[in-house]
Amino acid sequence: MKNITLNTGAEMPMLGLGVYKIDDTSSIHTAFEAGYRSIDTASAYDNEELVGAAIRESGLPRDELFITTKLSNPGQREGRAGVELDDSLNRLGLDYVDLYLMHWPVPETYADSWRAMEKLFKKGRAKAIGVSNFQSRHITEIKKQWTVVPAINQVELHPRLTQKPLLWISKMETIALQSWSPLGGGRDFAFKEQLFAHETIESLAKKYGKTPAQIILRWNIDLGIVTIPKSATPERIRENIDIFDFSLTQAEVTAIDMLNQNHRTGPDPDTFHNDF
Ligand code: NAD
Repeated sequence: MKNITLNTGAEMPMLGLGVYKIDDTSSIHTAFEAGYRSIDTASAYDNEELVGAAIRESGLPRDELFITTKLSNPGQREGRAGVELDDSLNRLGLDYVDLYLMHWPVPETYADSWRAMEKLFKKGRAKAIGVSNFQSRHITEIKKQWTVVPAINQVELHPRLTQKPLLWISKMETIALQSWSPLGGGRDFAFKEQLFAHETIESLAKKYGKTPAQIILRWNIDLGIVTIPKSATPERIRENIDIFDFSLTQAEVTAIDMLNQNHRTGPDPDTFHNDF
């Protein structure tokens, strides 16, 4: 496993398990056994209790784990950042999270929510704080008053949505970029299949003796992007972490960059409706 050093100085694994729609502990146990130490959940996923149970059952020392959860949109609208984090910690059975993210930039509240999250960070209940689904303009807006720079911006990112402008602004501001739906997500099976079958991805898979998913995940690592693929299938969970014994050349990274079509599989942060 490779780590990234966040702007707080903390180390975060470059690859973790996304647990959206994971509803039993066995996938998390498989991940821990395969070497995963980072788990990405959210209060909106309704599975923090399950993540907490898996952590306790694993017997792994707390300081070896990196646990992320997120402030929900209703929590933001009601100004409940502090209470929500307490509730998340209770459900997880933890004293702190390693990373607390603002799930979406709810237009009327995200700037206030960032100030509330800064307070939580200063109290130590979140060892790092960050944002999710922020466009450059959202970062520019909170920058006007921030006293803490977000450690992470977690956004939809895959070879069809390479997010280069966000990658540049993130590097300038010392914000690490993290990819959700790194494999194209679970919403559109055909989209993922077409991406995996693209000749650029297929030829690299053949060259390195890896699968298309492994090539795409390694492309994230070689770009310095933290990633959190989701799977409930034991073989795939193990496959997705088995990417630290090879790397792509700069030309190969660029060849995958060229697949960009600015294609989103999930909601657009500029137009998402505040109904989740
Ligand atoms: P993903 O790109 O991780 O894709 C998941 C799909 O790919 C599933 O159908 C899975 O079965 C399949 N898959 C996984 N490994 C595979 C492999 N090796 N070969 C073939 N297929 C494979 O998409 P995702 O679940 O949308 O995103 C991952 C995580 O990102 C989520 O679990 C969640 O933690 C996070 N997320 C965050 C947000 C946000 O708004 N912040 C939004 C969506 C997801």
